[in-house]
Amino acid sequence: MTKITRVEPILIAVPYEHGGPKQMRPLGPWTHMETLLVRVDTDAGITGWGEAFGFAASPLTREAISRVVAPLCVGHEFADVPSFMTDLQRKLHAMGRHGPVSFALAGIDIALWDIAGKAQGVPIHRLLGGATRERIPTYASLLRYGKPDLVARYTREAIARGYTAIKLHERLVETVAPGREAAGPNIALMVDTNCAWPADEAVAMARKLKAYDLAWLEEPVDPVDDYDAMARIRRDTGVTIAAGENIGHAGEARYAIGLGAFDIFQPSVTKIGGIVAMRNAIGIAQQHGVRVMPHSPYFGPGLIATLHVIAAWLPEAMCERFYCELEATPLGDAIVARDGHMQVPQRPGLGVDVDEGVTARYRVA
Ligand SMILES: [Mg+2]
Repeated sequence: MTKITRVEPILIAVPYEHGGPKQMRPLGPWTHMETLLVRVDTDAGITGWGEAFGFAASPLTREAISRVVAPLCVGHEFADVPSFMTDLQRKLHAMGRHGPVSFALAGIDIALWDIAGKAQGVPIHRLLGGATRERIPTYASLLRYGKPDLVARYTREAIARGYTAIKLHERLVETVAPGREAAGPNIALMVDTNCAWPADEAVAMARKLKAYDLAWLEEPVDPVDDYDAMARIRRDTGVTIAAGENIGHAGEARYAIGLGAFDIFQPSVTKIGGIVAMRNAIGIAQQHGVRVMPHSPYFGPGLIATLHVIAAWLPEAMCERFYCELEATPLGDAIVARDGHMQVPQRPGLGVDVDEGVTARYRVA
């Protein structure tokens, strides 16, 4: 048994190069890449690091960690991560099925897996059953540029750096077309609209985008949980639909998959509640023959946890890597993709060192 002695959320905000006009978010322009780290200390002297979904949600997620989840962890012992996390999920089910509390649980879960791996001297993927690959094919997840010339430029640049799969975050035929033109016919091209259109318009847009031979069209429908509309697009247009990053627990995944909403399910380890919750959700998708391609456009332990999950459980999946340069990273080379691949860490736990000089320099809360 290991006792948790301290839980500390650490929010860092790092300037980054977007490459185009900065995107707007609900509370203003997106100028920094926020990572909400969760540091967990134990009486065994082992420290684990997790990541809770942050970005614009960071202030709320941080409160959820400090005020709701940490008090249920500190002073408590855990023998294995799944039973500890299942118990936490149960205690918080009235407020933790999606949103900041489930993001906070993800931060704890990842940190506990890091601790468990370090305690046993094995990488997390070994605790999950063993890796089938040492490097994971990774796609470049381009930011939204909204301008045809920038889409073409960064598509070409990403391919020159070795990526063979590119995802655009564009919403117009005029900005998708130059991506396909720059990529040529042999590169996998995806489009993620982040819930751009009401159902009828989404069906019409899916038809128009068919000409660009997309490996998948991601989150085309507004509102985010209109699963009937996604099923209709699949049925009426034959376009491959991917979604799921905004699903907060396995039950909703079961519901959406039951409605036939996705060809590809994209659970997000820092949102859905961590690796234990991923296992449940992935199991449901696999029972229904739905492919899984995790969501991971972040730069902390969540990205590394995703590599372990893919290595152990998803032999067909690619990893998602946000395509932008950060001024600094506390995880060093571990977040770098080379020749379109990311390395699965082989050292104990997450297998990465957190540079606390970097976290101190960029800490904002
Ligand atoms: Mg997405």
